[in-house]
Amino acid sequence: MNKRPLYFDYAATTPVDERVIQVMVRCLGFDGNFGNPASSSHAFGQEARRSVERARQQVAELVGAQSEQIVWTSGATESNNLALKGVAQARSGSGGHVITSLIEHKAILDTARQLEDSGVAVTWLAPDAEGLINPQAVREALREDTFLVSLMLVNNELGTVNDVVAIGEIVREHGALLHVDAAQGSGKVKIDLARWPVDLMSFSAHKVYGPKGIGALYVGERARPRLSAQIHGGGHEGGLRSGTLATHQIAGMGAAFELAAQSFDDELAKIDRLRNRLLEPLLALPGVRINGSATQRIPHTLSLTFNEGEFNPAALGASIAFSATSACNSANNTPSHVLLALGHDARAAGRTIRLSLGRFTSEQDIDEAVRLIKAACATAPAFWVTTP
Ligand SMILES: *Cc1c(COP(=O)(O)O)cnc(C)c1O
Repeated sequence: MNKRPLYFDYAATTPVDERVIQVMVRCLGFDGNFGNPASSSHAFGQEARRSVERARQQVAELVGAQSEQIVWTSGATESNNLALKGVAQARSGSGGHVITSLIEHKAILDTARQLEDSGVAVTWLAPDAEGLINPQAVREALREDTFLVSLMLVNNELGTVNDVVAIGEIVREHGALLHVDAAQGSGKVKIDLARWPVDLMSFSAHKVYGPKGIGALYVGERARPRLSAQIHGGGHEGGLRSGTLATHQIAGMGAAFELAAQSFDDELAKIDRLRNRLLEPLLALPGVRINGSATQRIPHTLSLTFNEGEFNPAALGASIAFSATSACNSANNTPSHVLLALGHDARAAGRTIRLSLGRFTSEQDIDEAVRLIKAACATAPAFWVTTP
């Protein structure tokens, strides 16, 4: 059997932590906690409901929220859809204005385009040279009819961290709502929704060592009366998101978020050390540079652009699992919209890789990756060119 490549794509997804798997498995079989959490009249349903509510508490605790402010969804994509479409739909009258950015995840970009098609005006903010959204740019973009600003906490390609507190203060002053996609931030950045001026926040379990197919939307008190459900049928989740609750998925997300809270400081320190071990030898290579702010960032995610003619990413493919979406959007093979918004051309985007580290990355993995990347630089054809 072929050896599997080294895993450097934690920003795309994470494996489910074994401790989380144990929790999930107990919610499946006849001897386990398989009841319908909505079956309040018998013990099976009541036990499932307790698991769901415990998980809600675990998720809320990691981000400084109240458990009743957490709404279960199928993932951050759905949370983003619920936030944007739900707020747009709850308004009386048509039109209005939304502010977002050019470097959001596709789950925001495509949803905001959908709003545009339905008659909402959208301002697409460009990042600064550091890959950050300047709070002043948000202030300048606000209009009288702006009802929602949606910006991400941590950029999935760059690892840069927006100052959503400064942005939130500006948005509050104006009266609009602020939605933050925090799929890449939870468990990596200390989030405190009790103090942060944020109204809606999206989370995903599978970026935090939980299962795929489950996520949550934080709905703060200012947002609650201004949000319309997008999925109807049964009135689950306070009417905001119908559908039988997936106990095993929810319990898994809860366990994963609790683990993230418990290991937060140790894990951050460890990833920081590993990142330095990776970066030092790579930055010593001629012309290698990091995309996005060197300081306002998480250590987990690195976007690196290599010198023209000196790097052959194809030579790495079988040995390191890194992100190609950083170089191109895998579905349509166009250069990354994030790198283009940062001013890269298609060729530079083609010489860019995203390496992301996580809970199971070891020093040996790092040293091996450095060796392989150096070798890929050595094997680059003299006139290696990307097709745009
Ligand atoms: C992964 C991700 C999403 C999508 O989350 P899913 O749970 O996979 O739907 C949305 N936004 C960002 C920033 C992400 O990294």
